[in-house]
Amino acid sequence: MKPQLILLGAPGSGKGTQAARLVSELSYNHISTGDLLRSEIKSESELGKKVQGIMNAGKLVDDNTVLELLNANCDLTANAYIFDGFPRNYEQANLLDTEVMKDAKSSAVYFDIDLDKLAARLTNRRTCSGCGEIYNLLSKAPAKEGVCDLCGESLAQRKDDNEETVKTRLQVFKDTIDPVLAYYEESGRLARIDASLAPDVVFAALRDLTEA
Ligand SMILES: [Zn+2]
Repeated sequence: MKPQLILLGAPGSGKGTQAARLVSELSYNHISTGDLLRSEIKSESELGKKVQGIMNAGKLVDDNTVLELLNANCDLTANAYIFDGFPRNYEQANLLDTEVMKDAKSSAVYFDIDLDKLAARLTNRRTCSGCGEIYNLLSKAPAKEGVCDLCGESLAQRKDDNEETVKTRLQVFKDTIDPVLAYYEESGRLARIDASLAPDVVFAALRDLTEA
């Protein structure tokens, strides 16, 4: 049985890309709490109605409800999961262990990357308005400035890639990640992967980890 994986990384660290490969190549199931909340509401289950009520009141879904949702949707004795977006703090990491993981083997992976370099990478990202191709002015610039190599349409910056927004997102991440890393470090379950390396190299490291 492969270990349950908790993926920890800043927005833009490549976590999402790697999660997709873990699903397609190593048969992991991707657990996003946001998706779970939405599908539970849609199913109109008791839990779904409760979640809908909390959200209608404009409140954040509390930890216990998230844990209940995870337990209702995960069978850790039969499947290997990637937990992404939860836990976000020390308390949630602890609760995930005691209420969901229990005896399951688990490992946390931190996508380690210099946050200043990451900020530069994100603010230099440009997306084609025609075909969706993604460019980076630092590492993958188009042949002609502002024009897509593939389809000739114009390139634009996504709204949440502007400097101010990127700075805020990364600061929020920085403020909350350390206690979570400390939690997994204390129990000897933290693996740090150099997320500045090529995606294939990062994936190879992840594969090794799941086979260890
Ligand atoms: Zn294009």
